[in-house]
Amino acid sequence: MDDRAQEKGSPPRSTPMMEQYLEIKAANPDSLLFYRMGDFYELFFDDALVASEALGIALTKRGKHLGADIAMCGVPVRTADDYLQRLIAAGHRVAVCDQTEDPAEAKKRGAKSVVRREVVRLVTPGTLTEDSLLDSRSSNFLAALARDKGAPAPFGLAWIEISTGDFRVTGSDQAGLAAELARIAPSELILSEPVFADPELQELWRDLPGEVTPLPAPIFDSSTGPSRLSDAFEVVSIDSFGQFARAEMAAAAAAIAYVGKTQIKARPSLAPPKREIAGGTMQIDAATRANLELTVTLAGERQGSFLAAIDRTSTGAGSRLLAERIGSPATDPAIIETRLDAIAFLVERQGLRRALRDKLTAAPDMARALARLSLDRGGPRDLAVIGDGLAAAVDLAASLAAEGDIRPAELAEAEAAMVAVPGEIGARLAATLADDLPLLKRDGGFVRSGADDGLDQARALSSESRKVIAGLQTKYAEETGLRGLKIKHNNVLGYFIEVSAGAGDKLLSEPFAELFIHRQTMAGSLRFATTELAELASKIAGAADRALSIELDIFDSLRRLILASASALRATASALADIDVAAGLAELAEAENYCRPTVDRSTDFTVTEGRHPVVEQALRREGTSFVANDCILSQSAGAPGRIWLVTGPNMAGKSTFLRQNALIAILAQAGCFVPANAAKIGIVDRLFSRVGAADDLARGRSTFMVEMVETAAILNQAGEHSLVILDEIGRGTATFDGLSIAWATVEHLHEVNRSRALFATHFHELTALSQRLPQLHNATVEVKEWKGEIAFLHRIATGAADRSYGVQVARLAGLPKPVIARAREVLEQLEASDRADAATRLIDDLPLFNASAAGRQIEPVGEDQLRETLSELNLDEMTPREALEALYRLRALLDR
Ligand code: ATP
Repeated sequence: MDDRAQEKGSPPRSTPMMEQYLEIKAANPDSLLFYRMGDFYELFFDDALVASEALGIALTKRGKHLGADIAMCGVPVRTADDYLQRLIAAGHRVAVCDQTEDPAEAKKRGAKSVVRREVVRLVTPGTLTEDSLLDSRSSNFLAALARDKGAPAPFGLAWIEISTGDFRVTGSDQAGLAAELARIAPSELILSEPVFADPELQELWRDLPGEVTPLPAPIFDSSTGPSRLSDAFEVVSIDSFGQFARAEMAAAAAAIAYVGKTQIKARPSLAPPKREIAGGTMQIDAATRANLELTVTLAGERQGSFLAAIDRTSTGAGSRLLAERIGSPATDPAIIETRLDAIAFLVERQGLRRALRDKLTAAPDMARALARLSLDRGGPRDLAVIGDGLAAAVDLAASLAAEGDIRPAELAEAEAAMVAVPGEIGARLAATLADDLPLLKRDGGFVRSGADDGLDQARALSSESRKVIAGLQTKYAEETGLRGLKIKHNNVLGYFIEVSAGAGDKLLSEPFAELFIHRQTMAGSLRFATTELAELASKIAGAADRALSIELDIFDSLRRLILASASALRATASALADIDVAAGLAELAEAENYCRPTVDRSTDFTVTEGRHPVVEQALRREGTSFVANDCILSQSAGAPGRIWLVTGPNMAGKSTFLRQNALIAILAQAGCFVPANAAKIGIVDRLFSRVGAADDLARGRSTFMVEMVETAAILNQAGEHSLVILDEIGRGTATFDGLSIAWATVEHLHEVNRSRALFATHFHELTALSQRLPQLHNATVEVKEWKGEIAFLHRIATGAADRSYGVQVARLAGLPKPVIARAREVLEQLEASDRADAATRLIDDLPLFNASAAGRQIEPVGEDQLRETLSELNLDEMTPREALEALYRLRALLDR
């Protein structure tokens, strides 16, 4: 439209309202503008096209702008949340523009004045607060990332959940950044434009599931950070929050600034930023989280995920806390022990546990209600949430107190937090709120009668007047002799007298014409007013207005009372979540027969009779039982070895075994009981897994390339305290290439990374390596073969499989008989050539893996040489496979 204006060389002529709209829209070009008009939010121009398409609502027209029709669509204010949710889910941002003055005020400025409107809130994925826009069982973080290039940990991350007030900060180096982002999983990440544009970091943004919002660099200025934080928290100095690195400070201040930018005048009540020390949690990269289906399945569903299998919490807040613990397992044994103590206590006390869980079901989501109240977006039901939450907390605290001094620390602390909120709040809420509450405060009727004298009087007057109206109707009917005379009400006329058309003539003639003033003639009826009725009507309206304004004052005073204790209420809310998680995990431990793990700083890993939490439950539903297996990766004398090479037929249970041990490590460090008879876990600092990759065509990576990228990350980063799960590598390429890569990988893990590892493979030749690598243990999943049929025993035993039974599994899967028969013939021929022999020869002939060479400093290669080789590559013509080979050639150059 601007183009057109320029073409014509004249400024656009619009209505004053359209000018106001265009001005506000120009200030919010990245957002769809919800422009308030009466009971609707209207969208115009391109916004209308986008919204009508995304929401499936009708597109209409409203007047013309510069000669062209103005496209328009609208959503009712009352149901706006539903539409907001859909627009946000579709990746849009919305600026909500409300009327900020009474239309009557605008009229005073002149008949043509436009009601003042302002954007009151920017709705973005990371700044949602309404229950209808949020999943009660998932956190919704806004994260800010800042960089301080020279620092040892150059990245600062701050993340805020404005729907609960949670605010955290941490630092990270570049290598750990992807895992940190995967852990926080923000719905929205803000970062400075230069960081966003850094080519080295591009992949990080691409991998994030949430929205990435680059912002001008000054928002990330660390020098103004302290003052911005102290302003936000209204403190003189932020020293009490702890020491922050520069990048952390910049990130925290940027997050606060963005909250301010999106919430405009409203200020959420946030907890002071809590600094998480780097390395305080087990690092798990995004691929590993996805592969292990920690919180969602590979198909993106919560149902069927690891979290869903172990979540027995009763509240949304408990579920969010459990998800956080599973997503960020601790690395400090003391923290883990505290959590385990609480679970153990509740495992032993069934009665107490049941009582706590019963009471928790009555505990609503206090943190989210508190956040809405602080942003002045809350309604009467949010007040009730706080009241009910406090009542539940007092009840829970009493149950815990009855246990006396034997309560473990976590439960004792929770109990103390739950009784720290002034009793006045709960008492006043209980005494004030009605039983049935409206959603919106402006609907009134949420204060119970007897709570406020003034309100009771206003209400009495209003209901009294209604009785008087009824009396008036009887009086008029009697006086006129018109039995059908009725007093009715509508929004246009207010109260009026209605009689049928035939009866109307009587009122229009003397003696009644003096008393009854004719207002409207309808089809079949006539409407009248009287002075007496008008007076009564204004008394009723006055009383109702007064009642509502008293109620709104009461709402406001309750809100202020609540916000004055915001941090104590937040502590209560998190205490409820703590108890919920402990009780839920204790319930799980008992129902599923889990045991308390021992966790220390060693590099032990001993799981006795371990099970897979998800597969076990799935099998039980089918009436089958899970076969438990031991896994001992400790390095102590007599232990089998730090790395287990697991061979066995297809479908035998290798992947299940690998994953179950990774999940047991996560559970143990999250502070949960584990599906095993006994478990001793030396703290795992990083968990890596590479399991069955799929093509990542969107990024131009073949299956094999994905596999190699993930393997490279493991070999470059895993250390002595890491746990590595490798499920098949080298499958996506030619057999000998694959075998060679797998071979070298095992050697590297053994000699250089020295991690605890489980390596499942169909390359049976690899088992020969155990002769040479003392910490490599061969394990196999047993099967029984009988007359060509196989039975899977799912039992892990020492030894090596000699074959994969792939053909038998293919037959079970229903491959046509002739194909199976032919495959058997080919297999027999191939087996005659005996690859295993070749492996044995390799062991004899190939020199030992040179660990020092793996870690040696690489001599710089001449730049010319690299340049020449690189320039010869025809990148546009290469397949991913050829690209990888080219990379190897370049690497070989470096190694020369
Ligand atoms: P492939 O080599 O074909 O990938 P795999 O050896 O990795 O196979 P899994 O996928 O782990 O096999 O297991 C196959 C199926 O066997 C599982 O879906 C599960 O139903 C069953 N299973 C695995 N482990 C056990 C167990 N310990 N007890 C009982 N059933 C099991």
